[in-house]
Amino acid sequence: MHSRLRIIQGDITRQQVDAIVNAANSSLLGGGGVDGAIHRAAGPALLAECRQLAASRGGCPTGEAVLTGAGNLPARAVIHTVGPVWRGGGHGEAELLASAYTHSLQLAAEQRFATIAFPAISTGIYGYPKAAAATIALRAIGQFLQQHDYPQQVWLVCFDEESYRLYRQHSEQSD
Ligand code: ADP
Repeated sequence: MHSRLRIIQGDITRQQVDAIVNAANSSLLGGGGVDGAIHRAAGPALLAECRQLAASRGGCPTGEAVLTGAGNLPARAVIHTVGPVWRGGGHGEAELLASAYTHSLQLAAEQRFATIAFPAISTGIYGYPKAAAATIALRAIGQFLQQHDYPQQVWLVCFDEESYRLYRQHSEQSD
């Protein structure tokens, strides 16, 4: 496994990192899953900031990412990215998922963030098969880390046991 990558099981809203990544939807106006958990933990300041971004730039396209503050979270910032909805795999889903990871990492690098934590983007409500998503996430992150000094550490925060096991398996295979 890449020495700058950590795979843990837990709740992303509790992680003390420079930025946590939100698996948002393109309206930026809140949803269920990890997005709902992040907004509940961050409080109304984050929702207000997201509403402003939604009004000023019309949300966030799939595969891209935007930066906000983090309200009451222990993290300093939230990077909202929009993963693809799984539609069978023939609609550019793999490229869009890789792009969601890469654009999030680019924002973190621009800010010189040392640490960033990701959830397993698209693998909940958006239905992306977990094993395929784990391969893409690890590849996109590994490639980015090879080419950039920041972020110095990337944490993959798995909520469920299955994602945790898959990430561990895939990261051992890619050693
Ligand atoms: P998407 O719409 O991109 O599929 P979801 O929020 O439905 O986003 O799910 C993405 C992943 O985040 C899923 O694997 C889900 O289990 C996980 N997840 C949900 N809540 C949390 C949390 N508090 N911390 C970390 N991961 C979470």
